[in-house]
Amino acid sequence: MIKAIGYAAKHSFSRLKPFEFERADAAADEVEIEVLFCGVCHSDIHQVKNEWSNTVYPCVPGHEVVGRVTRIGASVTSHAIGDLVGVGCMIDSCRHCSPCQTGKENYCEGPNSWLATYNGPMVPAAKAPDGHNHYGRDNTFGGFSSVLVVKQDFVLRIPDGLSPEAAAPILCAGVTTYSPLKHWGVTSGDKVGVIGMGGLGHMAVKLALAMGAEVTVFTSTKEKLQEALELGATGVIETDANALKPLQNSFDFILSTIPQKHDLNPFIPLLKRDRTLCVVGALEPMAGLDNQQLAFHRKSVAGSLIGSIADTQEVLDFCAAHTIAPDIEVIRIQDINDAFRKVENAEVRFRYVIDMSSLKLEEAA
Ligand SMILES: [Zn+2]
Ligand SMILES: [Zn+2]
Repeated sequence: MIKAIGYAAKHSFSRLKPFEFERADAAADEVEIEVLFCGVCHSDIHQVKNEWSNTVYPCVPGHEVVGRVTRIGASVTSHAIGDLVGVGCMIDSCRHCSPCQTGKENYCEGPNSWLATYNGPMVPAAKAPDGHNHYGRDNTFGGFSSVLVVKQDFVLRIPDGLSPEAAAPILCAGVTTYSPLKHWGVTSGDKVGVIGMGGLGHMAVKLALAMGAEVTVFTSTKEKLQEALELGATGVIETDANALKPLQNSFDFILSTIPQKHDLNPFIPLLKRDRTLCVVGALEPMAGLDNQQLAFHRKSVAGSLIGSIADTQEVLDFCAAHTIAPDIEVIRIQDINDAFRKVENAEVRFRYVIDMSSLKLEEAA
């Protein structure tokens, strides 16, 4: 067993605190990774507070992990000791269903879906016998920790040209926005709308611009108009009817990155005929849709969940090739509770990344 230390929540209203635990040694097809950096995603807060009603405690969050390979199992061929690698939201899947067989593990149709990096399996705890996942282990612990052990097929290469701390948010925020931009065929000259400009939204803006699109940000925050401009996009206050009117029937694709339920109806008229508004931020029942708006111009509202392992490698390589990186603020793990509060209040610009070397302060204590 490997001694690990992390930061965990013990229940839905607790602050994250130091937590010692053990991980199983790497099996033949697994890689042991010393965690260097871990991004802070809004999902971490949803999960810690049990806002999706499926959290198993103690909960060690973190699914934007960058680290160094320290040990490999006997049959590992795709990673070597010393490699800089990444781990996103998934650490395994059923491997047998049609999505898994065709490289779409993020849509795994196995009995427990894919195995989440933390709080796996992603099914309500009541349905998971004894809170154990389908590999017979306890609930998974994520990247707010000193070490991870992951199947080699779910470990990503961090390309040269990306700093390890900037690469971390690409593993969730990057791929979650890249995958739908790619799936709905965003290309040069397209007009793309991005609703909300936080961790996901600012990556969507950067990626869509790099694909050659013209980007408009819809925000409720006045200060973000200037920030959108600085990224190379146009900003519009989403409740400003005068600003929205001339934009009707003009967008090729709109991506909503708001991390909770919100009204999509004001944005549907902005789409061109046959085009799609995709929601990636919210994972909960949404307010009713005005089907007249959809039917009259055959428009669609869709969802999309993170991205496949192949998409994740592709977006890492795309960011390196286009010199795109998330805007980050590096913090210590000891500041995590304050960081959670600031993420909830939308005070972060745009992603916190934890320098996990700060955990050594806990080990020394
Ligand atoms: Zn995330
Ligand atoms: Zn599967």
